[in-house]
Amino acid sequence: MGLGTVRRTALVTGAAGFLGSHLCDRLLEEGFEVVGLDNLMTGDLINLDAAGRHPHFHFEIGDVREKLPVYAELVFNFACPASPIHYQHDPYATLTTSVLGAQRLIEMARGRNCTIVHASTSEVYGDPLVHPQPESYWGNVNPIGERSCYDEGKRCAETLLHDAYRRWRVDARIVRIFNTYGPRMAFDDGRVVSSFITQALMGQPLTVFGDGSQSRSFCYVDDLIEGLLRVAFVNAFEGPVNLGNPGELTIQDLAGLVRELTETNLPIVRRGLPEDDPKKRQPDITKARQLLNFEPVIDIREGLKRTILNFQARLLEIANQRQRGLQFTPVVSLDSSPLRSLLDAFPGYLELVSSCGDAHRIGNRMVAAEGMIGVSEALGVIHRAVAQATQAAPERKELRAVEQRLCQVIAELSDAQAAQDGVRLADLLEHEALPVLRRCRTECQV
Ligand code: UDP
Repeated sequence: MGLGTVRRTALVTGAAGFLGSHLCDRLLEEGFEVVGLDNLMTGDLINLDAAGRHPHFHFEIGDVREKLPVYAELVFNFACPASPIHYQHDPYATLTTSVLGAQRLIEMARGRNCTIVHASTSEVYGDPLVHPQPESYWGNVNPIGERSCYDEGKRCAETLLHDAYRRWRVDARIVRIFNTYGPRMAFDDGRVVSSFITQALMGQPLTVFGDGSQSRSFCYVDDLIEGLLRVAFVNAFEGPVNLGNPGELTIQDLAGLVRELTETNLPIVRRGLPEDDPKKRQPDITKARQLLNFEPVIDIREGLKRTILNFQARLLEIANQRQRGLQFTPVVSLDSSPLRSLLDAFPGYLELVSSCGDAHRIGNRMVAAEGMIGVSEALGVIHRAVAQATQAAPERKELRAVEQRLCQVIAELSDAQAAQDGVRLADLLEHEALPVLRRCRTECQV
């Protein structure tokens, strides 16, 4: 970038996720000032390790459903849990993130010179009756099934964005992203590529759902990111566009390929096919080829090799850290986070945030590592102080109310701990414990 040139700003929502973080890296390479936004529901700060060291990257913990804290002329909307186990865990959050997120972005962009590249999905086609799927196909989606919160949320977001384009000429560019894989996928997101690779590297049987004859078409992440940038920069864009790699294979064949490339001969175990699991999926990318000159270049073998290397390196790093008793320290600041108050309130919580950077995984880690012990002790100390304050001033009814609420929260936390429900534990800490602790502070000066 030459002297006197001004950097363009791009906002990436869902920046700490798999695709969001790769996008941030690429936009920084392209010379953008990048603002990453994420509520860390499923994203992980470790994905922003490289971006976080870049002088032109800025991170905000925030929720796309709320008023956006920044304006940018280019927005990539990637905020939404995207793997089936993540999006089904909190269907309400999944659907509202898609729909309210689209609404907030339209409010920001309307009347301004702003381009929105919106991450939609091949899930809008549901269990497709047309194969491969062109953009003109309307889909076959169950409105009340296990996957509906994601599918229908994404469909509704497309409707909102397309209406905003039709009525107000908001430059909303909808991209239907097909199965994408690559480095940084979460080990535990339940997706087929990450699951098979993690299982193979850990010497566990590969879990094939159903008879394995269902098919998917997998796109390597770098190819997808290239396509997304082309979408952002092409002059004329109208209607949704599919992005993905049309190379299709069955899940059984994928399992075979992962075994071959990891040089393992692990057994395959069959599990039940999840509800509404699409039988076939393959993008028709004619439109992307014509409009964007888009062509995926990394085939499944090469892409899997690169992904396996990345998974191996990350697993090794975790093992080394465990041995050395070290933990990952995120470079992006947590200062602006609502979690910050929790960090202050609970000794031991900071360590947990530092080690995984993800509220839900923090809960699971707490359950696994008995991290709740520190938190329970802290809550016990706080409770004793509140009880003393209540006894000293029995006329202050609000103190008694705070004490009772604190007791309830402690009981609920211990139930979640006993049930080994890490996700519930994290939700309780953030949404129940934090407000009552704030009241302890303001009303009892604890
Ligand atoms: N799948 C599987 N074993 C796993 C995870 C997934 O056989 O451990 C199957 C799943 O039932 C689906 C396919 O792999 O048919 C792709 O699943 P994924 O969750 O990766 O993506 P999606 O279903 O959203 O395409």
